[in-house]
Amino acid sequence: MSVQLEAIALCGGYGEIQILKQVSVALKTGQVTAFVGSNGAGKTTLMKLLAGLLPASQGQILLGGRSVSALAPPARLALGLSLVPEGRMVFPDLTVADTLRIGAYLPQARSGWKDRAEHMYELFPRLKERRNSLAGFLSGGEQQMLALARGLMSNPSVLLLDEPTLGLAPTIVDELFEILARIRDTGVTIGLVEQNIHAALNLSDYAYVMEDGKVALSGPSDELLDSPAVRAAYMGVE
Ligand code: ATP
Repeated sequence: MSVQLEAIALCGGYGEIQILKQVSVALKTGQVTAFVGSNGAGKTTLMKLLAGLLPASQGQILLGGRSVSALAPPARLALGLSLVPEGRMVFPDLTVADTLRIGAYLPQARSGWKDRAEHMYELFPRLKERRNSLAGFLSGGEQQMLALARGLMSNPSVLLLDEPTLGLAPTIVDELFEILARIRDTGVTIGLVEQNIHAALNLSDYAYVMEDGKVALSGPSDELLDSPAVRAAYMGVE
């Protein structure tokens, strides 16, 4: 199976503060890859480096086998890499329909935006019901769905999601995870940062456990789910 997005010995952080230390990860095509680990482990920082929002001080990032390390975020997006950042960040004064429309601002996505929006309404029926509502009036779960749908409007090959379920009620979390599985089944490669390690390992095919800016452990998700060491350290199971 081919690798869609790869980081090789990636280092970087915030100015002088180096957070990531030689991080190497690979997201296989059409799979969900989870990034888990405690607060401050560097998961968000890794997402920002992959999307180009923070510079890498060392290492390589390959998208579809091509180096994108030197490219700014819009250029990476144009090549198929879309990040849905932590905290939803939808514009409160835009309607759902307009939010989807601006998600398709890239030239190659613009012409088919109406069809893609219809596809999003099939994937997220709640958004269809609220298509003329202002984003600011949506519930937290609906805003997260809108952020996800906006991220998909550019028709990405890789979708990176930073803690999409943060602060959401359990039933909405289940709904979102079902939608992520459907998105994966359409062939999109997904990178998922998630606090809920159990749910993340259940959904994902492969997972990286991060600690202190490094990959502490990685493997097929079902193996990590069964690993006594992972269960004891990260799931509070004796
Ligand atoms: P969380 O689950 O809490 O979001 P995380 O694994 O995503 O954790 P990061 O947000 O990547 O972790 O943070 C990694 C480290 O980088 C932390 O020590 C954090 O304090 C530091 N950090 C985050 N943002 C900044 C910033 N803007 N400037 C300096 N240091 C930062």
